[in-house]
Amino acid sequence: MINLTKLYCGLDSPSDPLRYGPDGSRDPGRGPEAAPTARTRKPIVVWTMSRRCNLHCVHCYTDSENRDYPGELTVDDARRMLEDLAEFRIPALLLSGGEPLAHPHFFELAAEAARLGLRLTLSTNGTLIDAETARRIRETGFTYVGISFDGLGKVNDQFRGRQGAFEAALAGVRRLKAVGQRVGLRFTLTRRNAAALPQIFELVEREGMDRVCFYHLVYSGRGSRIAVDDLAHADTRDVLDQICAWAVALESLDRRVEILTVDNHVDGVYLYLKLREGDPGRAEMVRRLLEWNGGGANASGVGIANIDACGNVHPDQFWQTATLGNVRERPFSQIWTDESHPLLAGLRNRLPLLKGRCGRCRWKPLCGGSFRVRALQATGDAWAPDPACYLTDEEIAG
Ligand code: SF4
Repeated sequence: MINLTKLYCGLDSPSDPLRYGPDGSRDPGRGPEAAPTARTRKPIVVWTMSRRCNLHCVHCYTDSENRDYPGELTVDDARRMLEDLAEFRIPALLLSGGEPLAHPHFFELAAEAARLGLRLTLSTNGTLIDAETARRIRETGFTYVGISFDGLGKVNDQFRGRQGAFEAALAGVRRLKAVGQRVGLRFTLTRRNAAALPQIFELVEREGMDRVCFYHLVYSGRGSRIAVDDLAHADTRDVLDQICAWAVALESLDRRVEILTVDNHVDGVYLYLKLREGDPGRAEMVRRLLEWNGGGANASGVGIANIDACGNVHPDQFWQTATLGNVRERPFSQIWTDESHPLLAGLRNRLPLLKGRCGRCRWKPLCGGSFRVRALQATGDAWAPDPACYLTDEEIAG
C-alpha cells in the first residue's frame, strides 16, 4: 500500500507506523537502517474466512460463489489459529472473503480475535450491513472497514454481478458512519471504470468516508479473465495524476481523507519523481520513507500473508497457486518462519532474483520489483518484470 496522503501531501495517518516505521509519522527523515529485515518483519495477515459470497464480482481473486465450500476451517481450528497469530504478534488481521459477513460465526471469531488483542480490519462488499450488523461491527472494535465499489450505480452492479449492489453497499456505508465506525471505499482500477474517477471522488466526499483505496488490477482468480481490461501505462499515469490533484484539492479545503493506492509499488516511485520536479527537499524525505518501506520486497511473503478458508498459507491473497503449509498441520508462526520453501526464501531476498527491466532498475530499493504474482500470472516466471510497471526506460535507467 502506498499512502498518497502521507507521501504526496505530507499528512499523517494512524496506520503510517505500519508502513513507514514506528516513528514514521513524526520523524520522516529517519534513514533506512531503522527498518526491520525481511526475517524480523511480522506480516499483516489477510484471512479469507470463507469463500462463500452473495455477489459475483468479475475480478474476484477467490472465484467465489454463493454456496458452501468443503473443507473450510472449523470454529475450533480458527480459534487455535487466532491464538497463534496473537502469540506471534502480527501487527494486524484483515478479515476478508468471499464475503466475511456471510460466515455463520463471523462475530464470534472476530470477538475472539479482538479479545486476544489482534488489531482488526474488515474488507466487505457492504451489502449485508443492516443497522444491527453495523452496531456489532463497531462494538467488536474494528479499526477500519473497507467497502468495495467499482463505479456508480449500474457500472458497479455490472462489476459486482448483482443488480442493486451499489445501493445496498451505500446503505452499508451510511449505517457504519451512523454508529461512528471508520469506513472507506475500495476501488479496483480498470479500463471499464477509470473514467468514473471524478464521480468516485465526489462519492467519497459526499458520504464523509475516512479513507479510499485505489487497487491496481491483479490477474488472479476471476481477475485473470479480465487482464485485458488492465489500464494502459499512459492511463495509469493519468489516473495517478488525477488522484494527486484531488488529494491536493482536499488538503486545501482541510478535508481529511486518507488516500492509498494498492498492489503496485511503482506508485511510490512515481510520486517521488513528481515531487522531485517541484519540491526536492520533500522528495528526498519521501525517498527515505519508501526505502524504509521497501515496496514489494517487504510485501508478499514478508509483510503480507494470506490464510485461506481451508487454512492454507499463501504469500498473499492473490497467490493462491503457492501453498506454504496448512495451519491445521502446523501453526502459522512455524510455517512463516520456515524458509525451506524456495518461494518463501526467494521472496525474502528477491532483489537479486529480479530479471529484465526490474533487475536493472535504479528504483529497486524503493519499489522492490512491485507485485511478483502479477509477473508470475503474466509470464509464468515470478521474477520476471511486473507488467504493470508504467515507468519509462529512461526513468528506470541510471
Ligand atoms: S522496473 Fe520493476 S523495480 Fe523498477 S519501478 Fe518498475 S516494477 Fe519497480
